[in-house]
Amino acid sequence: MISELPEEFKKRMMIQLGADYHDFEESFETPAVRAFSLNTAVISVEQFESCTEVCKELKYDKIPGMRHAYYYDDDLHIGRCAYHHAGMIYSQDPAAMLVAEGIELPERSRVLDLCAAPGGKSVQLAQKLADNGGILISNEPDKARNNILCSNIERMGFKNVAVTCMYPEDLAKIYPAYFDVVLVDAPCSGEGMFRKYPESIEQWSVSNIEHCALRQKEILRNAVSMVKPGGTLVYSTCTYASEEDEEIADFIREELGFEFIDAPEIVTKYATAVPLKNGTAYRFYPHVSKGEGQFMAYFKKPGDLEKNGLTDHMRLSGNIRKADKESLKLVEEVFSGVPDIDTDCIFRNGELLFYLNSGIDRLPEKAVTKTGVCIGSVEKKRFIPHHDFFSAFGCSIKNRLELLPGSSEISAYLHGEELRLSQILNGVYSGDDKGFGAVTVLGVPVGGFKLAGGRIKNHYPKGLRNL
Ligand code: SAM
Repeated sequence: MISELPEEFKKRMMIQLGADYHDFEESFETPAVRAFSLNTAVISVEQFESCTEVCKELKYDKIPGMRHAYYYDDDLHIGRCAYHHAGMIYSQDPAAMLVAEGIELPERSRVLDLCAAPGGKSVQLAQKLADNGGILISNEPDKARNNILCSNIERMGFKNVAVTCMYPEDLAKIYPAYFDVVLVDAPCSGEGMFRKYPESIEQWSVSNIEHCALRQKEILRNAVSMVKPGGTLVYSTCTYASEEDEEIADFIREELGFEFIDAPEIVTKYATAVPLKNGTAYRFYPHVSKGEGQFMAYFKKPGDLEKNGLTDHMRLSGNIRKADKESLKLVEEVFSGVPDIDTDCIFRNGELLFYLNSGIDRLPEKAVTKTGVCIGSVEKKRFIPHHDFFSAFGCSIKNRLELLPGSSEISAYLHGEELRLSQILNGVYSGDDKGFGAVTVLGVPVGGFKLAGGRIKNHYPKGLRNL
């Protein structure tokens, strides 16, 4: 592995690290660290940690100092576990987790994650916002990566996230001085990920670093225009290159007029301080902390932060309409009443019905790839529920099949098999003897089914099933 590192990269790191370079190089001989965070919007830390089945299956170790993050074994195929399918956990590098972990969000914040795919930091932000009534716009301009982002947000069951697929300059026209917090986790030369993804080493060059730095400046010029006066900008990369880290942080202060602010305690405690001209940024190194490389700096836009108004009515644009009474009636019939749903938050776009928590008053006319929860479609006066509905609202619907973690029934369900109610040994069914329902594990929804004549017809989407 060390021999694969470009000589020029090694020289640059020797200058950056001095006497510590040897330890840094040695870290490439140890495997990348695997970790996941818990989605506390759907399950509490106490409930998760008290389940012995989960602990046996995931063999996790709690990450010191973190409220709900855990190391796990490299050999575990975490993507196949029911907890992963249910959006209870999100696999992420521990250093990358800390960028968003410490961000303080004011009540009912509007937050933008500008470079969001695959979605690790959006997942963390959305969880925090679920507690404070805020809303997240999670943006990713690359279409293929945007699909992955949407699917991760859907899996986690968030009701307060809209996903857009736009370049920053276009988004900036819609949201001038709008967000309390903007996160720019910038596309970069990725040196901090060399141990985890050795294939990325091949793309390394000094000219790519220069190209990335120019792109970062362009992204930031637009990003800062979307921050409210007094709002926060967080800048991060997963590289060590000073052109993309220290120099960009100085650019944000000197040319974009932002002030450095203190980094959250969790960052200052575990990361290495990087002194800058008028402030401090932070960096994670794999030879210092358990995790990959990451750089982060926190800023404030001059001015006083104004609170968001309490009544943010969506400014309807494009094809977005309030859901009509007829559609709402169909939804209610299918789900025998939907107690947790505020019907004022249900909108219709063509045949699709979606739910978005209040808190945002406008969306771009085009390029919104996920508007809150896509609850389903109305076709020929019939309501067809979407998987997203089961992920987000599965706990609120009447028909529920709670399956035991690690059971043969949950494995069969995740394989796409049909189950028979009379043959369920490791689970409990509650509800009517027919209709749509949700499979849950530890009370967290995994996906949907339709019950008829004792048969549980599997509605878990084909593309998500375990093969
Ligand atoms: N924040 C993500 C997470 O925690 O999972 C990782 C983001 S990754 C470091 C950077 C992302 O920026 C990539 O998905 C890339 O496609 C996207 N990107 C590339 N060019 C961009 C641009 N001009 N504006 C915004 N994002 C861009």
